Amino acid sequence: MRTIRGFYLFVLLLAGTTIVLAQQTAAPATPAKPAATPPAVKLVLPAKTRIITLVVEPFWQTNCYIVAGPTGQALVIDPADDLESISTAEKPDRYHPRGNDAKRIYAALTENKLTLKYMILTHGHLDHFGAIGYLKQQTGATIMMHEGDIRPKGDPFEGCPKDTRMFDVEVPKVDRALKEDDIISLDGMTLKVIHTPGHSPGSLCLLTSYQGKPLLFSGDTLLHYYKGWDGNTYDTGRTNFHDGSGNQDLLYRMIREKLFILPDETVVLPGHYAATTIGDEKKFSPATKAP
Ligand SMILES: [Zn+2]
Repeated sequence: MRTIRGFYLFVLLLAGTTIVLAQQTAAPATPAKPAATPPAVKLVLPAKTRIITLVVEPFWQTNCYIVAGPTGQALVIDPADDLESISTAEKPDRYHPRGNDAKRIYAALTENKLTLKYMILTHGHLDHFGAIGYLKQQTGATIMMHEGDIRPKGDPFEGCPKDTRMFDVEVPKVDRALKEDDIISLDGMTLKVIHTPGHSPGSLCLLTSYQGKPLLFSGDTLLHYYKGWDGNTYDTGRTNFHDGSGNQDLLYRMIREKLFILPDETVVLPGHYAATTIGDEKKFSPATKAP
């Protein structure tokens, strides 16, 4: 009898539990909150960020930017090298990276006690990446660039920057292919990729903010427009390349639609020549007028 009573008690308890569970499951669902949109990433370089500019590759005078966060982790934009032309009639457009600028960039990193984590190429032209081989060897840093300027599958230089074919040395492959809106984060620094084809198919700009103002690393997409001593005007990167990879109309459209929509106070650090602002370039740039 005791056993039977115990059994019933057990069944009742079990039933009770089941009911409680069932009630919990069947309880009218509170209306689902609309999925919260992820908070927009704050594009910023912290106050203690250091930006070191080195003018490298003496002929083309490329601006190489070392950008280092508060704890000394650094990324480098366009680590170019001093190039020696070794072109011949049989092999035109051949270059040898001498290593001088690669060593200068590495010295700037070590003198400032910085650890290089990323190498970001604004595009795949030869005057923007000659130092990646040396720096990869020294630091193992991750190489990034837009997929549009990476040599395609089946190409003898598959996975390498576009102009690798013009070098007489081996060039490391790109580790991370970038695309529009990708976020690059390092040591409290966040930068967003803006794809601006025209100067080359994979040209990109990097948008962030620094000391209270938007900041754009513009590569060769947007250069300071000015009248030179020779009377010529110098503006955006050229597009008349032998391989037909440049597109002037597209370049100007990208500048109008993706860069000239940024606030006028945006500081522009270009791939060559002097720094400028979006407001200043909007005044004179031929890109303001649709063709
Ligand atoms: Zn270029």
